[in-house]
Amino acid sequence: MAEIVVIGAGIVGLSAAYHLVLDGHRITVVDRDPTGDKASLGNAGGIGISEIVPASAPGVLWRVPGWLFDPLGPLSLKLSHLPVLLPWLWRFVRSGTTAETERVTMALATLARPCYDDLVPMLETIGLSGDLHRVGALSVYETTKGFLRDRAEWELKRRFGVVCEEMSGEEARECEPALGPIVQHAISIPEWAHVSDPRAILDRLRQWLSQRGVGVERGEVVAIEGTAVRTREGGSWPFDALVVAAGAWSGQIAKLIGDRALVESERGYNTTLPDPQVELRGEVIFTERNFVATPLAMGLRIGGAAEFAGLETPPNFARAKSLVALAKRYFPRLNPHGGTEWMGHRPTTPDTLPVIGRSSKRRNIFYAFGHGHTGLTFGPTTGRLIAELVTGRGSSLDLAPFAISRFG
Ligand SMILES: Cc1cc2nc3c(=O)[nH]c(=O)nc-3n(C[C@H](O)[C@H](O)[C@H](O)COP(=O)(O)OP(=O)(O)OC[C@H]3O[C@@H](n4cnc5c(N)ncnc54)[C@H](O)[C@@H]3O)c2cc1C
Repeated sequence: MAEIVVIGAGIVGLSAAYHLVLDGHRITVVDRDPTGDKASLGNAGGIGISEIVPASAPGVLWRVPGWLFDPLGPLSLKLSHLPVLLPWLWRFVRSGTTAETERVTMALATLARPCYDDLVPMLETIGLSGDLHRVGALSVYETTKGFLRDRAEWELKRRFGVVCEEMSGEEARECEPALGPIVQHAISIPEWAHVSDPRAILDRLRQWLSQRGVGVERGEVVAIEGTAVRTREGGSWPFDALVVAAGAWSGQIAKLIGDRALVESERGYNTTLPDPQVELRGEVIFTERNFVATPLAMGLRIGGAAEFAGLETPPNFARAKSLVALAKRYFPRLNPHGGTEWMGHRPTTPDTLPVIGRSSKRRNIFYAFGHGHTGLTFGPTTGRLIAELVTGRGSSLDLAPFAISRFG
């Protein structure tokens, strides 16, 4: 039995702690705000099993200028953040080749394959199996041009095992009657799922861990001194093994250890409408506009956007409002009033691959971060993979594509 410290009480850190407890270790989770707001708490709740093609896929770069010049478009960049972002952007551009896209898609497909094998038992164990809705999702298109443009990407996904089927606008409305006539085409993704409430999963995981003697401690980690983490508040936790799962802040911690990680906050927004007057069976993805609508327990959550403005800039909720206005075009009967707005930091790498594996400097330090848009989807599997490494069982998956050493 080893003494293990996990930094970060988001879905990735708690999933790692969960698997490490099952392996019989003694765990302490340290987070500067264990129960507070974080990406894992307010995300769209989608189990995005088909999200395996990198964001930098060929063709995307040509669309970036148009997105940037649209003040409320899906992508925005704070100019003063540009110097910090440049190495990340350079790597993003370099990832946009056909060969890289193929390589990354293959790696993400291997991570996606065991997704439900890891998620379902974990939800069962914490008493939330009823919160997983395996009802599929629809990716909808308002133009034939957009639909045809994405065909190659869907073909690539199919080659790597994603089940998806083209539909007409009429067929999409038969599945989701709330959709208006704007929808011309759709892709049905039957293996997609959504959860009732991402926050409930975190709350139950923390509770389950506490009942098994795991300390979930408050503290902001500012130093790694030998085999102990030290917090700003003066706390110190010794470890035999350390897991870094600090989301968008993980690059700062990797730096303390001497590793380089290109991970940025890709800020996303959403609005949860408590009385949307629209009923959805499953999640709807507005692919040409880069946002989604998910029917959660507390209402309809409409979210998306990718804003690169660092970790400290205050939120610009005009982005959340613009997504609700766009959603109204797709759902004519949507009641857009009374929503709660939210912003979260997606931990995003330039090649879309998370970092899962051992530090290149210290054999007893492990990384689990950088899941971007799919941390809820791939978090439970990442937790198991980390436990395999820490416990020394040998990994059930080739982790080479996820190594931190790829950043030099
Ligand atoms: C708008 C939006 C919608 C999304 N929708 C989906 C979706 O539908 N499906 C999906 O799979 N994913 C989705 N995501 C992505 C998903 O939410 C993230 O990938 C995931 O939550 C990341 O989890 P994490 O545990 O790595 O990080 P986080 O949840 O950010 O947790 C990191 C934790 O580390 C702590 N921490 C950081 N630094 C320190 C430090 N120095 N000391 C101590 N603690 C520290 C923080 O306090 C935080 O609690 C969405 C994200 C956003 C923003």
